[in-house]
Amino acid sequence: MKETILRNIKNLPGKKTKRKIVVIYVDDYGSIRIKDKATYNNLKSAGLPLDANRFSRYDTLADNEDLSKLFDTLTSVKDSKEHYACFTPLAIVANPDFEKIKASGFTDYHREPFTKTLEGYGSAYNGVFELWQEGIRENIFYPAYHGTEHINVKRFMAALQQGHKSVHLAFKNKSVALPVLPQDVTVSNPTTTFFIEDSAENEQLTKDIKIGTEMFLDLFDFSSKQFTPGAGIYSPFLEKALADCGIKYIHVQRFLAYPMGNGIFSKKFLYNGKENNFHQKYIVRNCQFEPDGKTDNAEANRCLLEIEAAFRWGAPALLSSHRVNFVGQLDKNYRDTNLKQLRYLLKKIVEKWPDVEFMNGDQMAEEIL
Ligand SMILES: [Zn+2]
Repeated sequence: MKETILRNIKNLPGKKTKRKIVVIYVDDYGSIRIKDKATYNNLKSAGLPLDANRFSRYDTLADNEDLSKLFDTLTSVKDSKEHYACFTPLAIVANPDFEKIKASGFTDYHREPFTKTLEGYGSAYNGVFELWQEGIRENIFYPAYHGTEHINVKRFMAALQQGHKSVHLAFKNKSVALPVLPQDVTVSNPTTTFFIEDSAENEQLTKDIKIGTEMFLDLFDFSSKQFTPGAGIYSPFLEKALADCGIKYIHVQRFLAYPMGNGIFSKKFLYNGKENNFHQKYIVRNCQFEPDGKTDNAEANRCLLEIEAAFRWGAPALLSSHRVNFVGQLDKNYRDTNLKQLRYLLKKIVEKWPDVEFMNGDQMAEEIL
């Protein structure tokens, strides 16, 4: 009962449309986590509690097979306008350059474009970037900017400089943001790129955003209009920097305390289409799809109820998901189970709403916001 009410009331504020629009935002493509299966085995036997969460258990770069199977699933349906289902991957454009950081004696941070990272991942990744380009051409995999890297660089470098055992262990294995050895102090929120503790950090982050959005343009030949901060946290002081770099839409949580630095948080209520001082509009996702290896279709069926509630109140259905569900280097069975559930979800969507329209994030924003 409580769930049903929540599902409905969250769609009351925000931009309305009579059209039945479905957008599928999927965070983290491009970012590293665990390098590969051998790395998983090494780190696990060294004592890192990798099974503590699904990201340290399954998450890694998407390979040729992951993307091919995903594209097969997305093209298994067509909407009323003959368009395939479309992922809007929120992309990370760079990863730490482990060799250069090590060569600096851990004094300087260095990054490399994610296409360079792919070169070090072997033949299972040799067609990945071509698949991204194909996905863009076909409008089934149309990226937006999720951050320059998906680590909190300040916390990462501080841990390395302090000789943090678990962070060094992961570093040696070209992996990041993992749970730590039981005897080590935790590194808090290692993936929150934009979670500042001191407002002075925004100066470096402003530079990083400029570099990252330029890398995005270089890689994909178009500028990202949308931005989702890593782990959903950023300081509003960065909105001007984002606007200067062409970001017109910022993905936010409905209720969130935004760090202003020095322990101060700004609390805001935000909704889809609300505008800030820089004429940027906020996007608030209203549906979740995280199948996470479950073999029944419960997650898809739950998601269908959320889509139904969105349409009932004239809101576009803005799905939220993560790459971890759709990669199989660490466990093919996990990926295949999740893809099966995605296929079921898409089939049910076109059956239930024959006038549905699949769009990428930018198309939705231009049509509705
Ligand atoms: Zn993310």
